[in-house]
Amino acid sequence: MKRPVFEIWFKTAGARLIIAAAALLFYLPPLPIVFTGFITPASAAQDTGAEYEVSGKIMDIFDETRIYKAVVSFDDEQFLTGASGHFSAKLKPGVYKFSVTCEGYYPRVINNFAVESNEEYDQYIIPQSFDLEIYKKFNAYSGLLPKFANPPQIIIGTGKYNGSKNSFSSEQIDSINSVISQLKSISDFFSRSTVVKRDIESAKDIPEDAIVICRDDFANYTEGGHAEHHGWKRSHLIVVNPLHNRLKGFFEVVLRHELMHAIGFYIHVPPETDSILVPTFPIPPDYTALDRKVIKLFYRMPSKVSYPHATDGK
Ligand SMILES: [Zn+2]
Repeated sequence: MKRPVFEIWFKTAGARLIIAAAALLFYLPPLPIVFTGFITPASAAQDTGAEYEVSGKIMDIFDETRIYKAVVSFDDEQFLTGASGHFSAKLKPGVYKFSVTCEGYYPRVINNFAVESNEEYDQYIIPQSFDLEIYKKFNAYSGLLPKFANPPQIIIGTGKYNGSKNSFSSEQIDSINSVISQLKSISDFFSRSTVVKRDIESAKDIPEDAIVICRDDFANYTEGGHAEHHGWKRSHLIVVNPLHNRLKGFFEVVLRHELMHAIGFYIHVPPETDSILVPTFPIPPDYTALDRKVIKLFYRMPSKVSYPHATDGK
């Protein structure tokens, strides 16, 4: 009984094999043509030899000196800057490890530098004469609270904040303007801020992305002023009470100190630090050389920077 069945199956299977082989032979010649047509454009797209030019300047972060003979690397390819601090690299599209090294400067590394078009890319580096341990005291790398992503509008409140007895006098408004101008002269970032006067009477009048300076005669702060972060608006409010301390020049000292808080330095530095951000008297009468460097450094480095200068992206 089983044998005939086996034979039938065998014959049928054998017949299938022959038909399949014949079919394969029949269809085989066109197959390479089909695949050739598919492979050729794909491999051409992968290797067109397209290159982009990434060029820029390498500069000292504090005084904008163009740095000569800095080594700019994209993975293993190295380029030297010329006398004008300029480099130019021709690169295939892709993601590179970008680094800048130069004698006397801390190295700067960007782990994922995407090259996808021609690009001008300037980069600041920090001289080793600057003590990064002191910079840490300003807590600028902590990332607890953000710095401004774009230059904020700076608003001088002309109203009576929180029912204050008085508004700023014209002399005080002149002082505020001169302190803002000073900050603008220190920082190319804040030099792009616009300055306006507006009636601000309560916190609800504070707009987004702004630094708002108001007078409140009822506020009693040991600093003579106070800075508070309005996180969801990405804004900072500075409240000043000119009646708190009438020492000549103190009004401007308070403003400089509070402005430092408002632009992102939220904590006080140890009293022995040469900075307007010390918590106690004597407070320096002006921004110190250290303050000026710290402001430049903070706004010329990416916000998510690991200590000291490696970032994941541009
Ligand atoms: Zn303070």
